[in-house]
Amino acid sequence: MTMLGQSGDPMHPQVRPPNFLRFLSMACLLLAGCANQPRTPPPRSLLLLISVDGLRTHDVTPQLLPNVSRLAADGVRAIDGMRPSYPSLTFPNHYTLVTGLRPDHHGIIQNTMHDTVLGDFKVSDEKAVSDSRWWGGEPVWVSVEKAGLHSATMYWPGSQAAITGVRPSQWRPYDKSTSANARADTVNAWLEEPAATRPAFVTLYFDEVDEAEHDHGPGSPEAVDALHEVDAAIGRVIDTLRARGQLDHTNIVLVSDHGFAKVPKGQVVIVEDVVSKAEAKAVSLGQVPEFAPNPGFEAVSERKLLGRHDHFECWKKDALPARWHYGSNPRIPPIVCQMDEGWDMIARSSADKRASEGDRGSHGFDPALPSMRATFVARGPAFTRGATLPVFDNVDVYPLLMRLLGLKPRPNDGDAHTFDRVLQPR
Ligand code: AMP
Ligand code: ZN
Ligand code: ZN
Repeated sequence: MTMLGQSGDPMHPQVRPPNFLRFLSMACLLLAGCANQPRTPPPRSLLLLISVDGLRTHDVTPQLLPNVSRLAADGVRAIDGMRPSYPSLTFPNHYTLVTGLRPDHHGIIQNTMHDTVLGDFKVSDEKAVSDSRWWGGEPVWVSVEKAGLHSATMYWPGSQAAITGVRPSQWRPYDKSTSANARADTVNAWLEEPAATRPAFVTLYFDEVDEAEHDHGPGSPEAVDALHEVDAAIGRVIDTLRARGQLDHTNIVLVSDHGFAKVPKGQVVIVEDVVSKAEAKAVSLGQVPEFAPNPGFEAVSERKLLGRHDHFECWKKDALPARWHYGSNPRIPPIVCQMDEGWDMIARSSADKRASEGDRGSHGFDPALPSMRATFVARGPAFTRGATLPVFDNVDVYPLLMRLLGLKPRPNDGDAHTFDRVLQPR
């Protein structure tokens, strides 16, 4: 864990060094009439955090994503992508991006999980996702609100819950049916508000690419259509910012939560062929199946599950590979399995449906795999034009966001210096 000192963002009047203020007032006294003029603070820069769920870094090309590619050309890009945290699933990684904490430390250890006090969590359960007791740490928008600034979230996992009692000034309950353009237009409206209510930090989330790539595979015509749709919506925001003269005062950080791998038809393991329901409860399936042996069935469950199998491997939670930084959280069941790239574990009850489908796509595979690399692109007054970054861990994004906002980061798992060489000198 690292703790950063207060960043001295010159765009923030409240963090200006006092000797600078003294110099300003002295200069004013020397200029006739100046003392009667109200001091106009320079425009504060905005921070817009965009997530394109599942966007593979090598899909950022002028053909597939012209607007995102232009952002990268005018700013900074992680040329070989960004390493997601374990497990490479949507909720754990989105919440890592805004807290700088590994899933093991922030508590959203899976998309589907169980807590002995809170019960079951799944992403489609509005009551669970809105319950702050699931969400550890302090996401960026909460710190922004506590600093007396405004934040606004056009979706982000966690933004529906009053974490430490605080919600964004503006937020929306997640509605998958809201079009990409409608999401963009909401953000455009927020950024047009008068300075007193205009948010300093805004999130914008798109799920279209993730959905198309699950159903048809990455690189499919459907995935290409989704990439075009999302890129057009992002272009709508950029064009509006430019037309209003706000673009050069806006830092845009565009990320994804993970990459994507092909799951060829037929590449499934049926859970009941591995361990029976009577022996162990499968708390989650998919690419990171997790099991809680039933009382009295611990030994048989371990014998059947632990170790290497065709297409997957399982460990006790305290013996997982150290590079995953995963296994200490009480919400993680006793046995964790990892599917090999391109394989899914499903229940027998889903087998007929799956057999009727063609090639698919998935994520949740080992974050070290090149296919799981996420996207990182950033543009704005804080960033050097045309700079590139080598691969880094997604926990490093949080200290960057806090630095861009001029706020002190909370203790976190990220490296505060990853971006030093691509940021403009202050
Ligand atoms: P997965 O791809 O399985 O890791 O999870 C992605 C799912 O999470 C998609 O079905 C999204 O529609 C859904 N999702 C994304 N953001 C939210 C949110 N803020 N609240 C509820 N569901 C969400
Ligand atoms: Zn995702
Ligand atoms: Zn997904």
